[in-house]
Amino acid sequence: MTVTPSPYASGVVELNAQQHDVRDELLLYGQPRPTPDRGIGQALRQRALHELTALAGGLDPADWIRVDKHRLSQAHTCTGYLRARTGEEFAWSVANVRGKVLHRALEGLIMSAYRRAPLELAHAAIDELAEDVDDRGPGPFLATLPQGDRQDLARDVNDLVVKFVSDWPHVLAGWSPRVESRVKLAFGPIHLQAQFDLALGVPMGDEARTFIVDFKSGWMNNDHQQEARFYGLMETLRSRVPPYRVATYYLDSGEYSFDDVDEDLLCTTFDWMVEGIKRIILARSDDPVTYEPSAACRWCPGRADCDDGQEWLAAFGRHSAA
Ligand code: SF4
Repeated sequence: MTVTPSPYASGVVELNAQQHDVRDELLLYGQPRPTPDRGIGQALRQRALHELTALAGGLDPADWIRVDKHRLSQAHTCTGYLRARTGEEFAWSVANVRGKVLHRALEGLIMSAYRRAPLELAHAAIDELAEDVDDRGPGPFLATLPQGDRQDLARDVNDLVVKFVSDWPHVLAGWSPRVESRVKLAFGPIHLQAQFDLALGVPMGDEARTFIVDFKSGWMNNDHQQEARFYGLMETLRSRVPPYRVATYYLDSGEYSFDDVDEDLLCTTFDWMVEGIKRIILARSDDPVTYEPSAACRWCPGRADCDDGQEWLAAFGRHSAA
């Protein structure tokens, strides 16, 4: 491992323009934090207990249902889409493993207090993940990756880590960073899961001092904002205190979206989650699903057998606006 001294070790750091904006406009560094009503977290927890237990009523308790941001997002896109995706066999590829490797590299960056270089972190992340022999994880795929693909992957991850280093003020140990931080909550067979790319801070008394961000490498998308709100709800259900802000950061554009978390946002997100869980349960059943054609028809695995999807594709084609 190459150990290089952190330029931030001295504590005297001049931020560039983007780092300055991220610190002051996105993280609200040093600014007052809200103190939400202590009852919000408890009330949401009670709602989850009652409403999700009721939803789980007719389900096999041993057959648990995973509810995460991806499934909720797919459920709200089209229940036919969710059913088609659920029946699809998953396979690792360079495209879908990139996020995993990026998160591992970011973890190495923050845990080493920025003493490791991005390119070294990218290669180390591939090597470390490749050691995991669990068939469900990316280990076996990475372990047999051809040299050219590995180079492409390391190049892409290095690019994203460099952008993070360039755009964000250095995340210090005193900010209580959590990387790839999991939240798991079970309500009968309904298992809510989240994994925050990065969370900073912990509540102090009733003061909301937690910030959660998801990193993306693609285009801005409203679904991402909704997924970040789901993270805010999950953190509130877990810790009883809402985060003060949830955000999505786009590393390729340097843009970000965010929501300040309040009771209205949490309640709306809770309703969105419950509706999504109903749709997830429907998609798992033998009952007819509803079809809601949209741009998702273009990559839906069930499109060949879907009349609504075919109609939409005939009308709008591959390149028209949704
Ligand atoms: S093709 Fe479109 S309408 Fe049909 S199931 Fe897929 S996403 Fe839904």
